[in-house]
Amino acid sequence: MKILVAVKRVIDFNVKVRVKADQTGVETTNVKMSMNPFDEIAVEEAVRLKEAGTVSEIVVVSAGGPQVQETIRTAMAMGADRGIHINCEGELEPLAVAKLLKALMDRESPDFVIMGKQAIDDDCNQTGQMLGALANRPQGTFASKLVLSDGKAEVTREIDGGLETVSLDLPAVISADLRLNEPRYASLPNIMKAKKKPIEQVTPEELGVDVTPRLETLKVEEPPVRAAGIIVADVDELLDKLQNEAKVI
Ligand code: AMP
Repeated sequence: MKILVAVKRVIDFNVKVRVKADQTGVETTNVKMSMNPFDEIAVEEAVRLKEAGTVSEIVVVSAGGPQVQETIRTAMAMGADRGIHINCEGELEPLAVAKLLKALMDRESPDFVIMGKQAIDDDCNQTGQMLGALANRPQGTFASKLVLSDGKAEVTREIDGGLETVSLDLPAVISADLRLNEPRYASLPNIMKAKKKPIEQVTPEELGVDVTPRLETLKVEEPPVRAAGIIVADVDELLDKLQNEAKVI
């Protein structure tokens, strides 16, 4: 079995994000960047399947500027076999990424694609669903468990009321949720080995995809600063404040 794993380079989750002075976006210069945490979970799942002997090849793909090669190398240090860097600068919307991944699905014919349920920078949660639709293949989103057998993928999904299990014909698109697994740290020997693994470069034009943005960002603002809380003496005072000051009851 061959799997395609999509990974995105995002601002590290520990960084306090700052809005640019001109409100056109967030500051990314001199900011620590890392692999999107949900994508790390997707890579880990792929590597575990390879270690179990179910999967023979893991191809990791990332779209963006030259720096995303670092993210591809991280995935290869975790255990992916080879990388594809879709080289393009500038803003990439989920629809553009889904089209690029669809073109790679056509070219690579993976048994399934696994990716994060959402990128923590744009919080879109759209790419997997769009890819499933564009490729006209089944999708198992928010996976908290994945079992492969008899050419099918059984995906347990986290939904509002509990857990739902769906059986998908392969090839399928699967997106990883937080509880699917706990990603490993790459060991130093594996980081060294990853440096020798191949990364192929392609452009959106070569894949026949127009990535021109269709959305316009009007303004990015910091969330309003929260006012300090107060301690009330008793329930009566609380009710009074909720009724007369906050006017929420
Ligand atoms: P989103 O729909 O933007 O929340 O992203 C969902 C998932 O799509 C991410 O967790 C990644 O696995 C994948 N993805 C988004 N953007 C990219 C990108 N530029 N390159 C590779 N994968 C991406």
